[in-house]
Amino acid sequence: MSRHFGAERIYYNNFAAHLLNGYNPNMYYPGLPHRWHDSDWFALIDMIAEFGFNHFEFWLEPRLFCREGLDSAAGQEFHRQMSAVVERGHQRGVKTILLAALATSGGDWRTLCPNVPEEWAQVRQLWAEWTRRFDGVDGIAIFPGDPGACSRNGCTAETYIDKSAEIAQLIRSLRPTVEIEFGTWGPPFFGWGNLKFPEGWQGEFIPEYQHTAWDFSRDRTERSMRHLLQHLADFPDRTVVSINMGFNGNGDPDGEANAVGWANEIGRLRPIRTWDFSLTEGENAVLPHYRFDRLFAQRRRERAAAPYRGGICFTMTPRLNQLSLYQAAQSFLDPDADPEALAAGFYERLFGRPGRDLVPLLPLFEAVPDWGNCVQLHLSRGEYHRQMRLLVECLGDLDPAQGQAVAFHPTVEQYLAELRFFAELFAGLSGPAPDYGQLRQQYWQRVYAIYDLLPAHVDPRPQAATDRLIAYFADRPREQDLIGAG
Ligand SMILES: [Zn+2]
Repeated sequence: MSRHFGAERIYYNNFAAHLLNGYNPNMYYPGLPHRWHDSDWFALIDMIAEFGFNHFEFWLEPRLFCREGLDSAAGQEFHRQMSAVVERGHQRGVKTILLAALATSGGDWRTLCPNVPEEWAQVRQLWAEWTRRFDGVDGIAIFPGDPGACSRNGCTAETYIDKSAEIAQLIRSLRPTVEIEFGTWGPPFFGWGNLKFPEGWQGEFIPEYQHTAWDFSRDRTERSMRHLLQHLADFPDRTVVSINMGFNGNGDPDGEANAVGWANEIGRLRPIRTWDFSLTEGENAVLPHYRFDRLFAQRRRERAAAPYRGGICFTMTPRLNQLSLYQAAQSFLDPDADPEALAAGFYERLFGRPGRDLVPLLPLFEAVPDWGNCVQLHLSRGEYHRQMRLLVECLGDLDPAQGQAVAFHPTVEQYLAELRFFAELFAGLSGPAPDYGQLRQQYWQRVYAIYDLLPAHVDPRPQAATDRLIAYFADRPREQDLIGAG
């Protein structure tokens, strides 16, 4: 396999049950909206292959990584459909990676403790059964958590490392050729030993404590990373390590959280990749993203920093952020490329020459401060509104028939309709007398209405994300108020 920078370009679709929305496949609730037919998946695989991806990664989220996931009709259908996707990928030169947290299991996101023998036996059994069941996947990835992780019964980052090596050996014994990925995600090793908890905790997910998994300590980092280096040999052959440039949410190599030295030390012994969530679309900020200057800048830093072979490109909105996905794949293929020129070429293929006119207006969607968003707008509300109206007009002039031959999912026509919806919405939000309640309802209906049909999730982020978007505009009511990040 090629070892050059960006050789492994991974499309990572996180369709977990807390990230459901109108643009993500619903993989868990037959009978509810947003189920994808096999044909949707095949069109998606064809599209991402054309964009330049050569891997597809999916999360076997805790709701599936449990006894019920294995046995239920929804779990069996998940396996059937994903196996068909794996097959399609192989026809298109796209390998598939299955990702699961080491020990987080079930719809309530409970983390089983490696230091409790019965719980650890259960974890081993789940890994063995899912590994056997998904016998067509090319890679199996272990990551620490988020959600979940254990700090009960003396569990530490070192426990996570040792126990991951044990699971990796189990996987290897069942699948002699599969590639294994070991994730360092977090500050590092998210939550293991540093996750705080109340008295009597039995490993269940507690939203109020989850942020403590990000608590950084130099001592913990030194100790655990050294332990990993000493124990890399415990992992089977063909193990890749994913490690970002920084042990923080943005993967930034700043200050004490700088991980570049460790990445290089690991890179001498095993292949490395990044696992950076922050670059493409953040989480639960569902809108058409355009944040590519930072994406390409980070790729150039990665290329210079350590022998990275590639990494993940995260999405929870594959039916809306096709441009982001294209840019993300291209950022690995050519970190020196100009994202504006790529965007212009992308839209010219879809809509002919007039498609290029969209490009300077698309950053307007990145008005709201959000994880990974560094776009600086600084427009008065009046000017923002004027430009957003211009985008609405531009979109109205485009002919989706131009892009009929392009491998795209869903159709170019549907994609154009979505861009129009968001341009109209943002024009409405920044207009002179918005009806915020009605605009909120429009957004909710289009994006998150599926949650009206579900019991309360352990992680109710969609409501908060919708409120944040509306409040951003509602709290800046005057024409001269500035719109833009910060
Ligand atoms: Zn434990």
